[in-house]
Amino acid sequence: MADISLEEFKTQAEDFLAANAPRKEAEQKFVWGQGTDKVAMFEEKDRNDEVADLQRACDWRAKKFDAGYGWISGPKAFGGSELPNAYQRAFDSLESQFQVPSQSYFTIGLGMVAPTIAVHASDVAKDLYLKKMYRGDIVGCQLFSEPGAGSDLASLQTKAERDGDVWVITGQKVWTSGAHYSDIGEVIARTDPDLPKHKGLTGFIVNMRDPAVEIRPLRQMTGGASFNEVFFNELRVPDDHRLGDLNNGWNVALTTLMNERAAIGAGGGGGGIYSRIIEMTRAFGLSDDPVTRQMLADLLIHNKVSGYNNQRSMDKIKAGSLPGPEMSMAKLAGTMNMRRLCDFVSHVLGAKMIADTGEWGTYAWSQLILGAPGGRIAGGSDEVMRNIVGERVLGLPKDAGIDSKSPFNELKVGTQKG
Ligand SMILES: Cc1cc2nc3c(=O)[nH]c(=O)nc-3n(C[C@H](O)[C@H](O)[C@H](O)COP(=O)(O)OP(=O)(O)OC[C@H]3O[C@@H](n4cnc5c(N)ncnc54)[C@H](O)[C@@H]3O)c2cc1C
Repeated sequence: MADISLEEFKTQAEDFLAANAPRKEAEQKFVWGQGTDKVAMFEEKDRNDEVADLQRACDWRAKKFDAGYGWISGPKAFGGSELPNAYQRAFDSLESQFQVPSQSYFTIGLGMVAPTIAVHASDVAKDLYLKKMYRGDIVGCQLFSEPGAGSDLASLQTKAERDGDVWVITGQKVWTSGAHYSDIGEVIARTDPDLPKHKGLTGFIVNMRDPAVEIRPLRQMTGGASFNEVFFNELRVPDDHRLGDLNNGWNVALTTLMNERAAIGAGGGGGGIYSRIIEMTRAFGLSDDPVTRQMLADLLIHNKVSGYNNQRSMDKIKAGSLPGPEMSMAKLAGTMNMRRLCDFVSHVLGAKMIADTGEWGTYAWSQLILGAPGGRIAGGSDEVMRNIVGERVLGLPKDAGIDSKSPFNELKVGTQKG
């Protein structure tokens, strides 16, 4: 039982927020042609602006943590408040009413890496990192994918070789979101090449600031560089930074991926963007066009349905279930809705979307449209999600792919019927 009632907690949390951040103005109606016309999938900042922005995010996290709101459900031993999830939800809801710095820099570290450390790391690593991660003193990234290992993650070739109490890691990772501003990273490496590919892997926590870690930006078609190639040039990692038992890296990876799916599934429906496209339809004189109206209705209905579906899945997880195939449905529904939205915008704007005429609210959409395909790949591609839904929900025969043990397939262990 919590020492503080939920009502009392909410009152204190609101007092804290009111004392430390300005309250958002009442939701203003979106007016076409006013304010920014920026619409994007990834927050693409100049890397210098990003440093300042990250600092603001970390400062806010530290302030919250020191007041007892940084890890509300976490263990007291690591600075948490050990309160039920309902308290975290209450705080999140209150916080959304205030103007606070974006916390997107912590999505991977706190959403995926920290929960894996909490389950699999040594006491030394837990003591070193958990509190600092939740306080925003350090940021984490995920180093799984390699040029030859994405959907088929178990094919990865980065190797870790033992040298006394130290592991020496050599190899290349790719698509590492936020590696350039991260302090630590979760790596899965091959520790025994003679074992079957899923059985010779081990997880590690590595220091991203070590000179043996080389980070090179990858420029995507939107023009920004949110991702990186990361090279480990004989990086030395102490054995107490190993995650779990030797050659048990597959299970470590599954813990992280389960949390990733849950984090993606929890994503909202992006309500604001729908007001924007409705106003855009009016502005371009298409609100009475039957084909446009049909497309718009289809878009809004699909968004509403997937919103309810996500809510159902998240409620199950909050009630203690493991994330299951419904997370693949949620992810797939999200990317399909985004594709519908992009098609709709292209239908309304036509050539104005691809040639910059300087007109407000036209070419700016190209950032979203060029970024959207990334969502169909990140966290498991649409095709892999379809395999999961086909096999685990619809009971279709198993994919006869390279390897039936895709990490995404294994995520349903324990939650799958049939
Ligand atoms: C925006 C973004 C952010 C990312 N961030 C990170 C990160 O922070 N850390 C990290 O480690 N990785 C990250 N990734 C990498 C991501 O996890 C991989 O891109 C993804 O797993 C797909 O792997 P791949 O790119 O190697 O493609 P492949 O696995 O080579 O797939 C190529 C094509 O084959 C299809 N395919 C593969 N297997 C099957 C199958 N069994 N059945 C049917 N079709 C199949 C795929 O759907 C795809 O169309 C990110 C990717 C993106 C786009």
